[in-house]
Amino acid sequence: MKMLMVMVMTMLLASGACVYAAENSDAGAPEAAEAAATSDAGASEMAEAAAEEDTDFYMTEITDELFERIKGKSFKDDCTLPREDLRYLHVLHKDVAGEVHEGEMIVNRHIAEDVLAILKELYEHDYPIEKIRLIDEYDADDLASMEDNNSSSFNFRLISHTNRVSKHGRGLAVDINTLYNPYTKVVDGERIIEPLSGEPYLDREASFDYKIEKGDLCYQLFTEHGFVWGGEWPDRKDYQHFEIPDEVIDKWYP
Ligand SMILES: [Zn+2]
Repeated sequence: MKMLMVMVMTMLLASGACVYAAENSDAGAPEAAEAAATSDAGASEMAEAAAEEDTDFYMTEITDELFERIKGKSFKDDCTLPREDLRYLHVLHKDVAGEVHEGEMIVNRHIAEDVLAILKELYEHDYPIEKIRLIDEYDADDLASMEDNNSSSFNFRLISHTNRVSKHGRGLAVDINTLYNPYTKVVDGERIIEPLSGEPYLDREASFDYKIEKGDLCYQLFTEHGFVWGGEWPDRKDYQHFEIPDEVIDKWYP
């Protein structure tokens, strides 16, 4: 891919006049600009991507094409978060066997740079993450995504029995390796585990792949970037979950 970018850049440099005309379409070269806009539209998009340098780790706004993928799923009809507040991240990640995969995540724009940097550093240090797919591929079903050990962030929803939007509903929380880092809480003497298939991994003394531990690289990076880990909560444990604290969110959304 990088070779291709270099080739495209070289081609664009060779046809510099054409690019120049396109950039100055208001300044008296309408014909050339029009030709450039039609025939070189693809090339100029590629050039833009190349200018960002990193074709593996990048972010975009929610394009119409992306919006089609999330509309009615993670971006529900009653979504109160504006689409403009979300960013799409494209990343690479490695599974526990060291195999490289492409990943996609949608997060709040306020944390997009941070999450992109965190995921890049985890990749560079071979920190294993099995799947990073849009939760829309699971029809925005959080449990199905967790059972599949998927890592994700944005999924609009209200906190049960309230009209408050959850942090995932604002793209301000990130779940990592969810099957092996389940959520658990005791309610009226009954233990809730999500996903239920993650029950064996509530034994945090046991050793197994994809386990998040206090002090490991995943924990370190998220906390350095201002996130709080749900594995440290006293009243419940959410080992997969990193979120932005309320006081910071209150500043972003007064
Ligand atoms: Zn979570």
